[in-house]
Parts: sequence; C-alpha cells; structure tokens
Amino acid sequence: MKIEEKNIEVDFALAEEIRNRSGENVFLCYQCKKCAAGCPNRKFMDSTPTELMRKVQLGMVDDAMKDNTIWYCLSCQTCSARCPQDIDIAHVVDTLKIIVQEKGVKADTKNARLFNGIWMKMLRFTGRIYEVGLTAMLNVFTGNPFKDMMLGKKMILKGKLKLMPSFKRTSEMIKMFKRAKNLKK
Ligand code: SF4
Ligand code: SF4
Repeated sequence: MKIEEKNIEVDFALAEEIRNRSGENVFLCYQCKKCAAGCPNRKFMDSTPTELMRKVQLGMVDDAMKDNTIWYCLSCQTCSARCPQDIDIAHVVDTLKIIVQEKGVKADTKNARLFNGIWMKMLRFTGRIYEVGLTAMLNVFTGNPFKDMMLGKKMILKGKLKLMPSFKRTSEMIKMFKRAKNLKK
C-alpha cells in the first residue's frame, strides 16, 4: 500500500512484509525512545532501534536495510522488554535480517554480517559459542590472520578463554536448526 500526498510518497510494503512474517506492527511505535535508551550497542549503530522503527514506518527501505543496526544487534531483547507498546523490536530486527539476506542487499557493515554468519555456523556445530574459533575464522576471512593473537594467548593462559571448544548441542537446538532450515526452503 502507498499513500501519496503533496508530492510525498510513503511506501508501506516493508512494514507490511515485517508484519506478515513476524506479526509485529511497527506502526504502534510512537517514538518514545525507550528501546534506544536501553540498547547496549546503540553507540555502534547507524540508527538506534527507535530510528530504525521510524525508517520502516516511513518506507525508507534502502536506509533500513543498509544500516549496520540489524547486524550490530545483540538479540539481547532489552528493547522488546522496555517497549510500552509491546512491540518485539528484536523480532523486527531479526525479520529484517532475513529479508535483507533474501534480497541480497549489500551494505558496508564492517564485517558484522560475516561475524553473524560465522557465529550462527559455530552455534549450529558446537551448540555454544567458541570464541577462539570465531575470532580465528573472522581474522582469516578478513585477511588479518594474526590479529589479536598475543592478546588471545594471554587470555587463554589466564583461563579467560578456552583453547578447545565444548560441545553442548541439545536435541532442542538440533530441532530448532532443522525447523529453520525447513522454513527457509
Ligand atoms: S535486541 Fe538488539 S536492538 Fe534491541 S536492545 Fe538488544 S542490541 Fe539493541
Ligand atoms: S520503545 Fe517501542 S514505542 Fe518506544 S520508540 Fe521503541 S519501539 Fe517505539
């Protein structure tokens, strides 16, 4: 649906797609900024969660999809818990991630997208995050294989990081990934 008035055109297609996929209605957002105020990663984001919601409301599709915001989201759910309108903002962000990947939108996300991909694969394989492996793979794929090597060594020696991964894949997780794969098909 589109609304045109005095040369201003608002395209609701993205908001509608998000609603169809996630059940979340971004138009309930009245820009109170409680989500942005609680977001632990907002200082690294192109747009705060509040601004992202506004961009989706206004049909600023390119901006919403190319912002690094969705890739810098930690899925901590703080925004969703704080929203007085009961909007599950983290779910909106996850839905945007899926849409962006399906559409193959390219954005300068400073490797956040690559990080996200490795993170998910590792989680699928081990059942929990293996920091040493994650950092090593990210360094290799970004052409900087020895980055933070000395720091990593110190942290391993102090017992802050584990050299080897621990495998904690539960049957629930296996089911979850299987279901996600089927949904993708
Ligand atoms: S879920 Fe994402 S957007 Fe929401 S508060 Fe956490 S990091 Fe910020
Ligand atoms: S907390 Fe909810 S209503 Fe407030 S700005 Fe964020 S999304 Fe909008």
